[in-house]
Amino acid sequence: MEAVIGLEVHIQLSTKTKAFCSCKTTYGNEENTQTCPVCLGMPGALPVLNKEVVDFAIKLGLATNSKIAEKSIFSRKNYFYPDLTKGYQISQYDKPILENGKLEIETENGLKSIGITRIHIEEDTGKSNHSENFVNSTGLDFNRCGTALLEIVSEPEIKTSKEASAYLAKLRQLVRYLEICDGNLEEGSMRCDANISVRETGSKKFGTRVEVKNMNSYKNVEKAIDYEIARQIKVLENGGKIIQMTALWNADKNQTIPMRTKEDSQDYRYFPEPDLVPLLIDENWIDEIRKTLPELPKTRKERFTRELCLSDYEANVLTSAKELADYFEKTLEISKDPKLTANFVSGEVLRLLKETKSELSELKITPEKLGKILTLLQTNKLNLQNAKKIFDEIAQNGSEPEKIMREKGLEQSLDTNELETWVSEVLAENPNEALRFKSGETKLQAFFMGKIMQKSRGKANAQLVTKVLLEKLK
Ligand code: ADP
Ligand code: MG
Ligand code: ZN
Repeated sequence: MEAVIGLEVHIQLSTKTKAFCSCKTTYGNEENTQTCPVCLGMPGALPVLNKEVVDFAIKLGLATNSKIAEKSIFSRKNYFYPDLTKGYQISQYDKPILENGKLEIETENGLKSIGITRIHIEEDTGKSNHSENFVNSTGLDFNRCGTALLEIVSEPEIKTSKEASAYLAKLRQLVRYLEICDGNLEEGSMRCDANISVRETGSKKFGTRVEVKNMNSYKNVEKAIDYEIARQIKVLENGGKIIQMTALWNADKNQTIPMRTKEDSQDYRYFPEPDLVPLLIDENWIDEIRKTLPELPKTRKERFTRELCLSDYEANVLTSAKELADYFEKTLEISKDPKLTANFVSGEVLRLLKETKSELSELKITPEKLGKILTLLQTNKLNLQNAKKIFDEIAQNGSEPEKIMREKGLEQSLDTNELETWVSEVLAENPNEALRFKSGETKLQAFFMGKIMQKSRGKANAQLVTKVLLEKLK
């Protein structure tokens, strides 16, 4: 048996204001402080489309090679929901803004292109609050109501849970590069529903699908898909039938819970939204947006491997997020050494971000400062050990690389007299080890290096030390 998976992803657009009114979209503010008659659905209030929403959609369209519709239509999707007071959601239906796109993902067997059937604009609902503050009642917060979403519907071309999470990761990377969505899964800026079916391997016919909702992390998406595939295979192997349904993923129980079957699935009675004119997009508009596109992850990665001679792995890490790639390139402008800079950024900088749980923009160690440290390292004013020491010092307390180097006496000694003294002293203090080395125990070199570095308080140049040391141990 093999699985067939199609994903529906909602991304919340980071436009400054909502889709059809000028209310703010800031996350986490006091409840019901970002509302107006339009997004509350007061009778007679008229929606006006936010141009920025369309700009963002066009961006994603260009980045996914989608066909951008000259004319698309807004419809009303009617349903009752406590946190959608209008009684309908404005959404694009049979004439979406984008169709026939694709997204390339990396799989174990190389690159694979996943088709994107359609991407359409719609508005978000408010939020119901069932926390302990609302015993026997429900809190309603309409701050999110009317925020712009794009729904991205994939072709059923995904085969495994790993491919599904790779697709989500690529999509997240892309929308963050485009700066149209912050990609925050926990805050719900990116939400994913998975449609899953199984069939005989190689069969052309699709099996009956189950749609799983409510997964708010990559891990849960993978777990839910694996659970559902295994469940369906078992049902079929026992001679049963799959019932088409919508299910919820329960992360505590690690299983999908049926929510509704096809029989009770809703009829939304779509019809064209009478308060909004068709959306017309011409070539000029598209060209304007094309000019604002950043270098996309794939192109940037290829440039890093081709022009900077970085490995595929390094280029992947450094282009994983736009801010990281920008940070790397700004540092590189000063250090001029791609390999060294790549090592420091993917090593020290990422470690620091993880340890301090901070964002790149919050770091005291700016690209300028890191660039200066790396320059000191290249010109042999610092050795690696002390370069890292200064890096850590600045990360904690700020200040300037050269200043710290001088104040702490970390400047590397290239003075051969001084070096000779350190080496001689260490050999005199460890006569037995010196004898053993001479009789062939060459791995003691590391022992001597350690002692000499200690004596020099890390200032000795490792290459010079090695030279002098081996000379003296002949
Ligand atoms: P709906 O609007 O009812 O959710 P769609 O036809 O728009 O239905 O499909 C939604 C998603 O389900 C798409 O991502 C599509 O690729 C996927 N899909 C459709 N049929 C199957 C199937 N048999 N197995 C798995 N996924 C499917
Ligand atoms: Mg669906
Ligand atoms: Zn509003």
